[in-house]
Amino acid sequence: MFDKSRELFEEAKKYIAGGVNSPVRAFKNVGRHPLFIKKAKGSKIYDEDGNEFIDYVNSWGPAILGHADDEVINKTKDALDNGFSFGAPTILETELAKRIVRAFDSIEIVRFVNSGTEAAMSAIRLARGFTSRDNILKFNGCYHGHSDSLLVGAGSGSSTFGIPSSKGVPVDFAKHTILAEFNDLDGVEEIFKKHGDTIAAVIIEPVAGNMGVIKPKDGFLKGLRSICDKHGSLLIFDEVMTGFRLTYGGAQHIYNITPDITVLGKVVGGGFPVACFGAKREIMKYLAPEGDVYQAGTLSGNPVAMACGIATLDILKRKNPYKDLEKNTSKIVSRIMGLANQYGIPASGESIGSMFSVFFMENKPSNYRDVQKSNLRLFTNYFIGLLERGIYIPPSQFESNFITIKHSLEDIENTLVAVEDIFKEIAS
Ligand code: PLP
Repeated sequence: MFDKSRELFEEAKKYIAGGVNSPVRAFKNVGRHPLFIKKAKGSKIYDEDGNEFIDYVNSWGPAILGHADDEVINKTKDALDNGFSFGAPTILETELAKRIVRAFDSIEIVRFVNSGTEAAMSAIRLARGFTSRDNILKFNGCYHGHSDSLLVGAGSGSSTFGIPSSKGVPVDFAKHTILAEFNDLDGVEEIFKKHGDTIAAVIIEPVAGNMGVIKPKDGFLKGLRSICDKHGSLLIFDEVMTGFRLTYGGAQHIYNITPDITVLGKVVGGGFPVACFGAKREIMKYLAPEGDVYQAGTLSGNPVAMACGIATLDILKRKNPYKDLEKNTSKIVSRIMGLANQYGIPASGESIGSMFSVFFMENKPSNYRDVQKSNLRLFTNYFIGLLERGIYIPPSQFESNFITIKHSLEDIENTLVAVEDIFKEIAS
């Protein structure tokens, strides 16, 4: 069923580090080789062996309209015909920026970059430049890309400051990153009592998507806002995953919290390499060329990518699909929980907007420590079972599943039939 993909992976490994250009794509966690994708359309993705899958990865978030939307293709092609990189300003950049600024009260000015990693890294540099402080606080299990300051994990119990979570990150860099537990406001308060005047910013995924989907508890984000205000630290919302995905705006609108800096990516480029960070003018003016915080990019604001982003946001604005998306994820999760219950599978689920996760553990996790208790063997069985039944989900328990506006009720019903089949098999 997957022979050609296996051969292609062996070939890729000869030329590309680990055969992939981003580690999770290798399917290492689930002990398989990746599928090589030939094409995708709507809610479906097709591999080189000729298999068709209902896609719940959706390029890890950007494809909220489903794959290869015709209107987006046409508008992107128009831009392509005019040339595809000038290294000079274009109207398209201003047009995409206007749409973002209009969607977010917290943003007056943006700067475009090419990846969420760059955007989060630059947002932190900006916060450090603005506050003249070096330390940042991040949450265990939240992912903000792979810049040095953010590849940091919790140190020993007695130490607040982080340790590198990757080889190659100097301990001296990691020392400037303080780790806290998601949804633990008391822990954050304790840290601020000791180190508040050194903390430039708190960075958080307001709805965590990188340990599976975990929502903030009531009052948690509001508490962070007031701690930051009290100590003169900036609050950075990393909405790379949630921006334009949970609503035409971000999680900040759902939870009614105004961050100082917002980081966006994924949907904002519609599948092209676009991300950005934005804030009020008072903060953004610290950025070069107006200010002294340096940040740059040869391909930043690429016109073809901008056109794809504009077309994507315009469709989202026009269709306003968010309520329907949320209805569908909530249905998927509640039906899967019903099946888990029926077949005695320990599981819990979470959904918000078009994001959802199924955790193989009884109680819903509320932070990274909790989610570690999930049964990864069950997850692997579930993943492989789905793959073999034509359903493509992220190959890790610690990721969000995404649906798109092209996922039909039939897609969802077919998925649930596959899930029931797998649970039955596991239970027998
Ligand atoms: N921030 C969040 C919340 C993400 O989910 C990701 C990627 O998944 C990033 C940042 C990094 O973005 P990129 O992979 O475009 O560098």
